[in-house]
Amino acid sequence: MQSITLLGATGSIGESTLDVIARHPYKYSVFALTGNKQLSKLALQCQQHGAQFAVVNDAAAASELRALLHGTDCKTEVLHGLEALCQVASAVQVDTVMAAIVGAAGLVPTMAAVKTGKKILLANKESLVMAGGLFMRAVKASGSLLLPIDSEHNAIFQCLPANYEQADTSGVSKLLLSASGGPFRGWSAQQMAEVTPDQACAHPNWSMGRKISVDSASLMNKGLELIEACWLFDVSPKQIDVVVHPQSVIHSLVQYTDGSVLAQLGNPDMRTPIAHGLAWPERIESGVADLNLFDVARLDFEQPDLESFPCLQLAFDAAAAAGDAPAILNAANEVAVQAFLDKRIGFSQIAQVVDNTLSGLDFSEPDSLDGVQDSDQKARYHSANYITEIEY
Ligand code: NAD
Ligand code: MG
Repeated sequence: MQSITLLGATGSIGESTLDVIARHPYKYSVFALTGNKQLSKLALQCQQHGAQFAVVNDAAAASELRALLHGTDCKTEVLHGLEALCQVASAVQVDTVMAAIVGAAGLVPTMAAVKTGKKILLANKESLVMAGGLFMRAVKASGSLLLPIDSEHNAIFQCLPANYEQADTSGVSKLLLSASGGPFRGWSAQQMAEVTPDQACAHPNWSMGRKISVDSASLMNKGLELIEACWLFDVSPKQIDVVVHPQSVIHSLVQYTDGSVLAQLGNPDMRTPIAHGLAWPERIESGVADLNLFDVARLDFEQPDLESFPCLQLAFDAAAAAGDAPAILNAANEVAVQAFLDKRIGFSQIAQVVDNTLSGLDFSEPDSLDGVQDSDQKARYHSANYITEIEY
């Protein structure tokens, strides 16, 4: 029986994870569930999955959750705060941690799980973008098993040899990172200037949380994923090509020096990579429908349009600059996406905020989590100030 802590249980990845877990009650048990705002959903999840602990952000939310559970036969103990998040991510009873908090908030609890040698199912790409070097060193030091849940990285992982350590020694020449192109594929920057948050969040193939949906629409998501892939697979940005593939059936590919290209295909449903991560190296049923290639009928591929989607170029540049440039990119993007969702800035201004923040700050090479948090904070401060200058 694998005992699991699910960080970010109430989100899109969290719900999909609980759906897969519930299909295999003799293989997986829930130790802890965490959530931020959707307390009724979290209360229901605690009852349905018999969580021993639930963690929310503050004391008020904890009282509210306790009140929701009062009078039910649910025995879940409710905790709150960052320290409690780290405790349930690192508790001795826990085998596996699904890291599915969105954004920079996921970094510290995910690192707590890494440092205690848990099996990590990594959906929170932002923690690798912010602190990839520290994160990967901690994985090595603790002997954590790190399995990628992001569909592209999970696909690449599946296409690499089982004993993969480095591209050169495995005959890998390139990683080909799939991108759907998002809802605005083929649009000019001018056409995108007026789009609303709801339009940006209406992804053609995937159903996801709002932040990653906006990132997918701006192609910042692909930029973050490029940085994520560099750390996960120990490659340089030059060894990765982004391939726009609008059907989202090929989730990514690995090109080998002998001319072979291996791909992983499937319906666009996150339960496949989640089930893969949970059961690896075995396979379990995930609830995802079989892929029908006759329904798919055709697979198209395009070059990404860096002019209309400047966020992808900014991420390439931050990856090349290294140091804390990716952490600054990530923080500025989070602030800008929130401002866009709050209708304070337009969609095209997300790139403008990130660009202004990257060019307004000096880069450094943080050697601790505190150092990374400092870079994150100064980028948030800079972006927030800039937004007050440019908002409607
Ligand atoms: P979501 O917005 O649906 O859910 C986010 C979860 O994080 C929720 O449970 C929320 O309560 C929690 N959370 C938010 N802010 C928090 C905070 N400050 N402190 C503690 N908890 C907080 O997001 P999602 O779409 O499930 O994405 C989660 C992560 O997985 C992101 O890093 C995203 O990039 C990654 N990811 C998602 C998908 C997808 O299909 N949804 C695919 C690949 C990767
Ligand atoms: Mg992805």
